[in-house]
Amino acid sequence: VGPRALDAIPRAGLGHWPTPLEPCPRLSDELGVEVWVKREDCSGLGLGGNKVRKLDFLLGSATAGDVVITFGALQSNHARQTAAACARLGLECHLILSPVVPRHDELYTTSGNVLVDRLLGAHLHVTDDPVRTFEQVAAALEGRTTWVIPAGGSDASGALGYVAAAEEWTRQSREMGAEPTVVVVASSTGGTQAGTLVGLKRVSARARVIGVGVYQSPEATCEAVATLAAGAAAELGIGPPAPSAIEVTGEFLGEGYGIPTPEMVKALALFARTEGLVLDPVYSGKAAAALVALARRGDLASERVLFIHTGGAPGLFAYGPGVVDGGG
Ligand SMILES: *Cc1c(COP(=O)(O)O)cnc(C)c1O
Repeated sequence: VGPRALDAIPRAGLGHWPTPLEPCPRLSDELGVEVWVKREDCSGLGLGGNKVRKLDFLLGSATAGDVVITFGALQSNHARQTAAACARLGLECHLILSPVVPRHDELYTTSGNVLVDRLLGAHLHVTDDPVRTFEQVAAALEGRTTWVIPAGGSDASGALGYVAAAEEWTRQSREMGAEPTVVVVASSTGGTQAGTLVGLKRVSARARVIGVGVYQSPEATCEAVATLAAGAAAELGIGPPAPSAIEVTGEFLGEGYGIPTPEMVKALALFARTEGLVLDPVYSGKAAAALVALARRGDLASERVLFIHTGGAPGLFAYGPGVVDGGG
């Protein structure tokens, strides 16, 4: 079996693509490094974000009346985008949400993504024991056609969304004469980085990809990226990316998933005040903190950097004023 075209794989048609690829002149001046941004926050559906790309493939064969069950943290962007995809496709949506971030106040438990999940008509199951809750929910839905989507939409099929994205921005950047030499992207369940590596390989783009770990240890993230990249490559009938291409830094995680760092808060303000870009406190804000630190250290001198804005801004409203530098 030879290479398989991405277009041969069914897709649900969920997003606004291509998303914009934009220069960031004021941010570039500030950092002394040429920075571009890929606006994956503008993917359109349900306030946008990177999961729309994955769901486009994950739900490519779903039909109205089917059921979807997926998993996430309470303020999961993936859960919100899944709820939106279900609304759009006429699917019944069950979200199994765990309080993995140590925040139990009213803002965190009712605003941000949770508010939008409810607006979109999803069934929310908040639980400390997602495995047991899944068994109960699945049992109650017996007999229905059910799509079980892993956390973050990260399996081989979901990662294909970022194969498509990486091919898209490579095409755009080549048309603009501005192909990136470095890509900076937040990495949590790893599907976004995995798909990116496979996509870049397919179009012979040689950019270095820096995954910024925001969830688990860099070792665990690397392992997840390797497994997902191998799976996505196999779906497309090509070999996996070289192990040496998988790079994840754990330096910007701070105390853990969803816990703000001072560098993240500063980076949110810098992106907002130089370019009008609204990032999020859990993922893209920590990736931005990495970009700022690497640039200021001189590690990106003479590179053309592409920052992937993966979305997530609805999460800001659950975090509140503490993530605004000088906001208090
Ligand atoms: C899910 C998410 C990510 C990370 O994507 P993975 O494929 O899970 O690594 C990055 N940014 C935002 C805003 C997200 O919601």
